Amino acid sequence: MKSLQRQGHVFAKGEAQLDVLNRDGFEPFVEKLQTIGLSPLTPTGVDIFQMNLGKMCNQTCKHCHVDAGPDRKEIMTKETMQQCLDILGAYDIPSLDLTGGAPEMNPHFRWLVEQASGMGKHVMDRCNLTIINANKKYHDLPEFFAEHQVEVISSLPHYTSLRTDRQRGDGVFDRSIDAMRRLNEVGYGIEGSGLQFNLVYNPTGAILPGPQESLEADFKRELKRKFGVEFNQLFVITNMPISRFLDYLISSGNYEEYMQTLIEAFNPSAASGVMCRNTLSIGWDGYLYDCDFNQMLDLKVAGKSQHISDFDMKALQSRAIVLNQHCYGCTAGLGSSCGGQTT
Ligand code: SF4
Ligand code: SF4
Repeated sequence: MKSLQRQGHVFAKGEAQLDVLNRDGFEPFVEKLQTIGLSPLTPTGVDIFQMNLGKMCNQTCKHCHVDAGPDRKEIMTKETMQQCLDILGAYDIPSLDLTGGAPEMNPHFRWLVEQASGMGKHVMDRCNLTIINANKKYHDLPEFFAEHQVEVISSLPHYTSLRTDRQRGDGVFDRSIDAMRRLNEVGYGIEGSGLQFNLVYNPTGAILPGPQESLEADFKRELKRKFGVEFNQLFVITNMPISRFLDYLISSGNYEEYMQTLIEAFNPSAASGVMCRNTLSIGWDGYLYDCDFNQMLDLKVAGKSQHISDFDMKALQSRAIVLNQHCYGCTAGLGSSCGGQTT
């Protein structure tokens, strides 16, 4: 499967996606927030620096909101990483969240992790699992992660191969289980080891996810029983109506119904806990965004501090968060964020 960009698809551009999201007469998200007194939505601080190290990936998952894949070549340079490290060193930002694509494919990935963990930052890596066994040069990633106490967060859409492979590609489930075994061998996901290994679940179709607690129990029981593998927590996330998932919604005729489902499930408590309030997202090219989703829609942060080279903490903390119709994905039901349910 090719990325939308390689296909020359109109949704490779954020503008075209926003046109669709705004054309159908659904209640504007901003107005919804006004009704509960949350507009303009402002940050509570910057606790998490989420750096997108590039769009290159060894997989091409159907629902990928990054439109990542082997045919994407954009990656963050070492210079931009150094600028990010300078900011991390200058401010009390406790966590660094590394994402992609497959962040480990960036040639400076290990250097960045070493620098950040040396500064005492809590480093999280959004590892797609199959990168660990994709190539010999990645085989020792579990040991490297353990050495730097990296929290590993990995997508696994289901505990059956059928449902996982349908979303992520043929053979991905078996290779993911193999990678989970490697992580377990060094202590990841094993109680008492202190090495955190969390999984991410998202529904395979145009539906809201079920409650995190019961899904976590199902995943733990089935993965242990059938494959003998373990993990710590399951983060349940809602599919955002952007990029490849938006393409799927439109081509399958599910778009209107899905948006209506998200809107009807609007939850004021989830709205007050959206992740853009304490996270700052940095694109592979150093531009700043309220979240990874805004990044994929080309919606930069409001104000003058829009690039890591113009970083101004005061201005960023007083900005109004840029919102649009896709934000209904974060506020539906029990809420959704990169750390799972928010209520
Ligand atoms: S592994 Fe992650 S980044 Fe790569 S294509 Fe799949 S969802 Fe996108
Ligand atoms: S999509 Fe981004 S900006 Fe919108 S509510 Fe979610 S985290 Fe915030």
